[in-house]
Amino acid sequence: MTVTHLEGKGFRNLLDFSLSFGQGVNILYGDNAQGKTNLLEALWMFTGSRSFRGAKDAELIRFEEKKASLTLQFKAQGRDQEAQLQIGDGKQALLNGVGPSPVSVLNGQFCAVVFAPGHLSLVKEGPEGRRRFLDQAICQVWPKYASLLGEYHRCLHQRNMLLKDVAFHSQLLDTLDIWEHFLSSYGGQICSIRMRYLERLAPTAAALYGEMSGDKEALYIAYHSKAQGVPWDKSIEEALKQSRKDDIAAGYTTVGPHRDDLKLLLDGKPAKNYGSQGQQRSIVLSLKMAEADVLKGITGEQPVLLLDDVMSELDPRRQDTILNHAGAGQVFVTCCDPAPVVRLTEGEVFEVSGGMIRPGL
Ligand code: ATP
Ligand code: MG
Repeated sequence: MTVTHLEGKGFRNLLDFSLSFGQGVNILYGDNAQGKTNLLEALWMFTGSRSFRGAKDAELIRFEEKKASLTLQFKAQGRDQEAQLQIGDGKQALLNGVGPSPVSVLNGQFCAVVFAPGHLSLVKEGPEGRRRFLDQAICQVWPKYASLLGEYHRCLHQRNMLLKDVAFHSQLLDTLDIWEHFLSSYGGQICSIRMRYLERLAPTAAALYGEMSGDKEALYIAYHSKAQGVPWDKSIEEALKQSRKDDIAAGYTTVGPHRDDLKLLLDGKPAKNYGSQGQQRSIVLSLKMAEADVLKGITGEQPVLLLDDVMSELDPRRQDTILNHAGAGQVFVTCCDPAPVVRLTEGEVFEVSGGMIRPGL
């Protein structure tokens, strides 16, 4: 997957632009608050997902303007393709001239993996972000997984409603049995798919982390669930029965894939509690680059890698691993000082200043 050209009008602070990019590393440099992350965000919007900064559509439009438009030319599945995004009264997409359609038509057409400093929460914070990472990564390779998650959450909602009523109406216990059966069936499928995905992701991420640390540190990733494991549907059903009393008291469901977690251990110790800044950053980058590798292994397409401000806090070996590994596909990397990046990799360089993007150092 390669971005060849991007045009934008009215997007964030970026002055109207029309840019062609290199097939390898593209370095976007400039002082703070000039528009570097905005440019990565513009590219990311073509994945059909929400902004990686969690921005609302209106925040993407330049102050005082009413709409923004972006046009992306890219190569995927050996073909030249063009996608357009119109952001204004809602958000719409055209793919190869067809549309306007909801932006979900872009899912799986343009694939990218993004690292932004906010993603450090994957290591630093609670399990929700780790589950979201896993689920979003799986959705990129198996789009049907999204509807499975939807069904699971529908059943979860039903069980949670019942838990609140059952304390007053014991005849509802039979209905609880039925919803628990559905919940375990969908939950079992979710856990099995997550495990299958992790079988590919975990060793890849561990190998990348090993390379970054010069094989001095070992990253271990494990799935953590209150349910016992295979067969997942049976073990989730069992865990739900066992936690029923507690769940009725709590008024919500305390076991199942919506409560599971990924354990991230560095040399056997939780990275959240013991990892240094650089180690935590390296873990997130290993996970993200492994996500890109798995996507390539399954779909045959190497996603575009968007790396926002990754170089800070990393020693030269770690920087080198990232840029050279990423160099296998197309990468966009932002930084304030281009010198260390330029030393490590050949690539096209763009200066971002006051919302203006110019090729060259
Ligand atoms: P840093 O190195 O600090 O990360 P950056 O170059 O990545 O900086 P951006 O996050 O791209 O900076 O933001 C650049 C500027 O865009 C900010 O000053 C911000 O106020 C401005 N900005 C954000 N949204 C809009 C908008 N909708 N319209 C106009 N300007 C905006
Ligand atoms: Mg930035």
